Amino acid sequence: MNKTLFQVSCRKAVLAGYGLRDGSYMSWSVPFAWWHVGLAFLAGASIAEFNLYLVTAVLHRGMCHRAIAYPALVRSGVALWLWLTVSTSTLSWIAAHLHHHANSDQDEDPHAPSSKGFWHVLLLTWYYVPHWARENWEGAAQRYLAPFRSERLLWWLELPAIFRLNFYFQIFGSLFVGPVAATFWLSRFVPYLLASGYVNAVGHTLGARPYGAVGTDATGVWQTIAGYLIGGEPLGHNFHHRHPSSGRFRLGRFDPGLWFAIHVMRGVPRNISI
Ligand SMILES: [Zn+2]
Ligand SMILES: [Zn+2]
Repeated sequence: MNKTLFQVSCRKAVLAGYGLRDGSYMSWSVPFAWWHVGLAFLAGASIAEFNLYLVTAVLHRGMCHRAIAYPALVRSGVALWLWLTVSTSTLSWIAAHLHHHANSDQDEDPHAPSSKGFWHVLLLTWYYVPHWARENWEGAAQRYLAPFRSERLLWWLELPAIFRLNFYFQIFGSLFVGPVAATFWLSRFVPYLLASGYVNAVGHTLGARPYGAVGTDATGVWQTIAGYLIGGEPLGHNFHHRHPSSGRFRLGRFDPGLWFAIHVMRGVPRNISI
């Protein structure tokens, strides 16, 4: 096949995949049923919700702050699951989060609303975290990631080529295949990514500061509802900054993230006395 013929064949194959004809536009012609789209939305939103609880219970309270202990298999399994379902890189997340604790609300903070702006942090935390990790990788690895040196899977998932392959494969394998796959991708990524932004934006701006620490605890009905949806993180973000090594985020009140960590993920809290 000569070069021109090959190019024409490729163009036709790509256009056919999009339901288009050469030189003319047609609507998305992949056959689908609306109830499949509805099911895809429910499945994606459920995974997003489940992942928010996994993040607070295993990634944040367990692996990052070592306040709750899990078997190695659980830690690796959750890291792989989060990487596959919402493209979260565990080590980047941990390094950026520990840097956030060390430099909260200062210019060095990877996602401080005070320097980056409330809406930027709300909408773009998903970008700030991996961007900061990429720009500061060597120093971040030395300073924050030594305890994970032997966990080879986690380092492999951080390889830029592997991360990009996963991220772009999921986008092109979902958004451009058809409405069902696109809905499944959007409904699990968008709520999850916005919820992460919510914790960092609202959790450092709105609410109460009962303890001598940065961060805010949820106040009012809507912030409380959001707090429950996000695994309890915004319910006690001020408390968490005051006591980062504690497995609980609230004193004397129900903490859904701690309940999930103990009763669903079978984690063992190292410190919930405070
Ligand atoms: Zn914070
Ligand atoms: Zn933390």
